[in-house]
Amino acid sequence: MTERIHEFLRRREDDGPCLVVDLEVVRDNYRAFASALPDTRVFYAVKANPSPEVLTLLAGLGSCFDTASITEIESVLAAGATPDRISFGNTIKKERDIARAFALGVRLFAVDSKAEVEKIARAAPGARVFCRFLFDCAGAEWPLSRKFGCDLPMAVDVLEHAHRLGLEAHGVSFHVGSQQRRTQAWDQALKSAAAIFRACAERGVQLTMVNLGGGFPTRYLKEVPTVKAYGNSIFRALRKHFGNAIPETIIEPGRGMVGNAGVIEAEVVLVSRKSESDNVRWVYLDIGKFGGLAETMDESIRYPIRTSRDGGEAGPCVLAGPTCDSMDVLYEKTPYELPISLEIGDKVLIEGTGAYTATYASVGFNGFAPLKAFHI
Ligand SMILES: *Cc1c(COP(=O)(O)O)cnc(C)c1O
Repeated sequence: MTERIHEFLRRREDDGPCLVVDLEVVRDNYRAFASALPDTRVFYAVKANPSPEVLTLLAGLGSCFDTASITEIESVLAAGATPDRISFGNTIKKERDIARAFALGVRLFAVDSKAEVEKIARAAPGARVFCRFLFDCAGAEWPLSRKFGCDLPMAVDVLEHAHRLGLEAHGVSFHVGSQQRRTQAWDQALKSAAAIFRACAERGVQLTMVNLGGGFPTRYLKEVPTVKAYGNSIFRALRKHFGNAIPETIIEPGRGMVGNAGVIEAEVVLVSRKSESDNVRWVYLDIGKFGGLAETMDESIRYPIRTSRDGGEAGPCVLAGPTCDSMDVLYEKTPYELPISLEIGDKVLIEGTGAYTATYASVGFNGFAPLKAFHI
């Protein structure tokens, strides 16, 4: 947690859980990506934290943006970015939204099927498309499913189809899985990317761009490699698979851009046990899965939690949210160690929460307000 967030929370008087994001950390993260991969354009994945403050900061620093909807595109334009810095990166788009994006000036679209290519050929004639291919996300703590992407032979067909329909078959994309802690994960994906480039060239379709996706981690409980280490590993893989013909590249960091910039302050509502002999306490916070901590699903993301009583003796706790849905348990399979002296009314700080939190909060399930967010 930064000194600026600490100061902000010390002066805060309102009630309820809140997220505080330090924009100086976001600025440092952007610069780290830009310098670790100097020949790669950065397309910030807007969904990670779409607040106007973050978008305005990044637009000012020269970032491009990966968007998934017209609302995200409009937010990015409102933040001062021009449409040539926007990619419509969702492979699942309504044709009228494609037309809307095209009218707003967007010219770069993701696809993973011929049906989507046909929509784009009709609604955004002449635009650039890149095809997402399926990739096994081993090593990622928040793996992405088979929802996006197609296999390699189909990717070649999809790109050739785009070319035939008058679109610019620009390149390929993949995502190595979010919170990817293996810097080598990009190597296998770039091998596949190069194979698609060769197969397309044999059919007379010259690709020029590889979208390296997101996946760059935030430090939670476990140590993660530096952005520089990812940059080096990616550059080596590009050389290995593309030789001297290194393509144009872009990255789409979401979590890695904003995750470590945010802290949630929450309050202990109840500490109890299920029986007198139980040695595991239940600690209920005023924030849970529906208040912004949805990424604790399957206990995938384990946030660092600090209390004012750290340092003393600790014991295992089941950590849960305040709502009446029994799903609203954060950590139970692997209990969380918290101080024995923790009491009702104590404040806790949940770190690394700048990404995928505020917009994951429900609009008011059980009467609990969406997570308040402050960007300072
Ligand atoms: C969500 C998303 C990202 C960002 O992923 P992170 O793991 O948060 O970096 C990048 N690209 C696409 C297409 C996405 O959907």
